[in-house]
Amino acid sequence: MPPKLYFELTARCNYECPFCYGVWHERAELGGPELGTGEWVGIIEECARRGVRSVQLTGGEPLLREDLDVLADRALAAGLEVSVYTNGSLLTEERLRGFKERGIRLSTSLQGLGSHGVMTGTGFGPWKTLEAIERAREVGWPMGVGIPLARPNVGDAADLVAAALLAGASALLAGPVMFEGRMRKRPEWMLSAEEWEAAKAAIRAVPAGEGRVAFAEEFFCGCREQPEEVWMRWPAPAAGCPAGRGFGVVGVGGRFRRCLHTVEEWEWREGEGG
Ligand code: SF4
Repeated sequence: MPPKLYFELTARCNYECPFCYGVWHERAELGGPELGTGEWVGIIEECARRGVRSVQLTGGEPLLREDLDVLADRALAAGLEVSVYTNGSLLTEERLRGFKERGIRLSTSLQGLGSHGVMTGTGFGPWKTLEAIERAREVGWPMGVGIPLARPNVGDAADLVAAALLAGASALLAGPVMFEGRMRKRPEWMLSAEEWEAAKAAIRAVPAGEGRVAFAEEFFCGCREQPEEVWMRWPAPAAGCPAGRGFGVVGVGGRFRRCLHTVEEWEWREGEGG
């Protein structure tokens, strides 16, 4: 099996980002029903037996699962490295300290400043996310931060990076939002290649950002079938994506997929991956 797996614990989320890449926005059956605690524990133990070394617990919003800590602890007990990807809105100081004590790394996304309400579908500003990043730094467990860029927030690109760095992000990953999930219904939000290059130039000019900001260069997933119009409109992803070899996904209902963006089920066979 691939050394890293993403576990999509739930399709539920307290945000409604119009760019959310969750595959269930394209195929409702991939969003549930959710597995119970015992079923996930079985998957965790099977994965550990088959050589998986690390798992990222994600969603949707994984902190909406009441058994998140139980699952994280079972994965740690099985010898897996564990991380959590969260929108940060439900992270209390107590939970942050609990993750730190157990060595569970955290990442979040900063979706906008003035545009945060539109980018998240919540109508409110970025304060919860910035507070979570800041609180994480204060407890000595700084978070990694993703900056997804689309037409509504691209004008904020440099300010987003500066704000995340000032709040105490450990590292940043900025990239154009991908033509997947809910974005399939919003091609007008997608950046052009030129807009993305301009955003990168603005980000590179942020003084404290040097060496701390990486760029994700994919506009769409090359592992799945895409309409020809997509290939013509945006730069093709670089060849050699490690999906299915370097990493894989166990979806909400327990089905394997090669990556977070693929909708096709994947039947893992002995000798694949790793
Ligand atoms: S992108 Fe993340 S925070 Fe936004 S709706 Fe999807 S799972 Fe929730």
